[in-house]
Amino acid sequence: MRVTTIHGPGDIRLEDRPEPRITEPHQAVVKVVAACVCGSDLWPYRGENPVDVGSPIGHEAVGVVEEVGAEVRDFAPGDFVVVPFVHCDNTCPHCRVGATSACVNQGFTNGGQGEYFLVHQADGSLVKTDGMPDEALVPSLLTLSDVMATGWHAAVSAGVRPGSTAVVVGDGAVGLCGVLAARELGAERVVAMSRHEPRQKVAEQFGATDIVAERGEEGEQRILELTDGIGADAVLECVGTNGAMRTAFKVARPGSTVGFVGVPHGVELPVRQMFGKNVGLAGGMAPVRTYLPDLLERVVSGRIDPGLVFDATMPLDEVAEAYRAMDERRAIKVLLRP
Ligand SMILES: [Zn+2]
Repeated sequence: MRVTTIHGPGDIRLEDRPEPRITEPHQAVVKVVAACVCGSDLWPYRGENPVDVGSPIGHEAVGVVEEVGAEVRDFAPGDFVVVPFVHCDNTCPHCRVGATSACVNQGFTNGGQGEYFLVHQADGSLVKTDGMPDEALVPSLLTLSDVMATGWHAAVSAGVRPGSTAVVVGDGAVGLCGVLAARELGAERVVAMSRHEPRQKVAEQFGATDIVAERGEEGEQRILELTDGIGADAVLECVGTNGAMRTAFKVARPGSTVGFVGVPHGVELPVRQMFGKNVGLAGGMAPVRTYLPDLLERVVSGRIDPGLVFDATMPLDEVAEAYRAMDERRAIKVLLRP
């Protein structure tokens, strides 16, 4: 089968590898219907994460169950499933309090940018649709494997409440989904920080009421002006850099919480400022499975359309170009078809 592999910074290849085989009774093999490139795939692509040379890459995918292990009860070949990028048993003590991304039987989708991949803990992880979904729903369903659930986690962690003002730092697919999540959770005002016009447009489609194109100190100043000097009730940090985190704490009003979901790279927390302003930090790797039933219902009912984050679709054969397009910010997010 064909699967995407990474060999070093900027070196993405589509290679022939053996199809994954079930080695544990709780596993399943999923045949990919649609996959995509994640912003976090760009960290190793840019050489900012170490690379295990030749390893399969890709953790966002939806597909059809191909084969199940002996102890899988709830899924059968032919089921269309959303696969959370982090797998869980959904029964351990951490899962039971909703912390499914820290499951004691944690696993990850690996090689999702390919034709087949392995799901660990199939019963605990997978969520199926009622029959084969309408083709038009596939992009939105695909976002539920990571970015939409991650944006949702940012909004939940930041404590977005009805009538509140939320600021979203970051205009990648996760940040844009964070805008959508904040609106769904009832924020009256959602400020999206973005200087890229195509992303600003999606943010507006997702319900952003204000766009701040300035960055750094200028952007922080602008948000303080927009909030009468008070700051935001909730801040979603969806980047993972020190600059983004700095901005998040600058614009968070006293007593509020920053919800962070960007994978931290070189972030130093302003603990003194957090202490002085009573601003908390919550979030982390999204417990995707926890949010999936609710988000699936919102997508299937047509209430939300997070698939709008995809502004390009390419065949899997062009995966290297998909990475380039996202790295150069020519595309917000690329959907891949095997
Ligand atoms: Zn668990």
